[in-house]
Amino acid sequence: MKNIAVIGSGTMGNGIAHVFAQNGFPVALVDVSEEALQKGVATITKNLDRIIAKGNLTEEQKEQTLAHIKTYTSLEEGVRDADLVVEAATENVDMKLKIFKDLAAFTKPEAILASNTSSISITRIASVTDRPDKVIGMHFMNPVPVMKLVEIIRGYSTSDAVTTEIMEISKQLGKTPTECNDYPGFVANRILMPMINEAIYSLYEGVAGVEEIDTIMKLGMAHPMGPLQLADFIGLDVCLSILHVLHDGFGNPKYAPCPLLVNMVQAGHKGVKSGQGFYSWTHGTKDLVVADRFKKS
Ligand code: NAD
Repeated sequence: MKNIAVIGSGTMGNGIAHVFAQNGFPVALVDVSEEALQKGVATITKNLDRIIAKGNLTEEQKEQTLAHIKTYTSLEEGVRDADLVVEAATENVDMKLKIFKDLAAFTKPEAILASNTSSISITRIASVTDRPDKVIGMHFMNPVPVMKLVEIIRGYSTSDAVTTEIMEISKQLGKTPTECNDYPGFVANRILMPMINEAIYSLYEGVAGVEEIDTIMKLGMAHPMGPLQLADFIGLDVCLSILHVLHDGFGNPKYAPCPLLVNMVQAGHKGVKSGQGFYSWTHGTKDLVVADRFKKS
């Protein structure tokens, strides 16, 4: 496997392009927006500088990494030579189905088509292609250059050979690939999202305040950050949409999103990306300041 195409140059796409390029793979980075491509390459450059500052990369290796990345706004041109496509476009079912239909038309028949989706069924995505045995979930974690895990999701028809190949290539990136089957939320979000939802219910029901909930979970469970802070980082809209996938997929009321989460998303309070969530982020992400709404009087 040689040529990689990454679809989407946002938070995840630029990170995925970065790790492939740094490990010597030629990468075609594709986005509908030229601005997103420029922003993606600027982010990769900044993150490479950060690795240099820690003494783990040379200037020459940085230049080699950047030289491995070519950008495209045309999907057809970007994926033409790809042996592996990793799709990391916006989390929207209809959009992903359209992209995978196009990928089946524009790529070599033997190319493997992977998705970085957090929650959409790999089996459903595979069903619109001509090669469901070669469609697989490759769920990188954020921030991609730092996080070791890749959750590898086998769709209903994904072949053993394709799974083995994707496990191998993930190891070549210095990651720890871990396999699971294709059911709602896979493993990571099936377990994480109910915890976040329960933290929001605890706040909603007045069991404790934002700081208390996060401190108890952070110090008590040795988590690097509390669940409410983590939800703000992930994006409250993303958390809500994953809870809907779990709720719809299992038909079990235990996954019903907390009404407070629904209200916050409807009000545009989506966490870090909108500046307001359980915390206020208008001053940056270094200091934790509880949002006015949740401050104790
Ligand atoms: P993002 O909004 O930061 O980036 C999405 C990018 O996709 C944008 O640059 C957009 O212009 C581009 N795009 C939209 N339609 C496109 C198309 N048709 N063709 C090419 N590019 C297109 O989103 P993100 O946070 O990087 O998430 C991307 C995927 O990764 C989603 O499936 C998400 O569920 C998954 N994911 C996100 C995280 C996270 O923490 N953000 C973690 C794991 C997985």
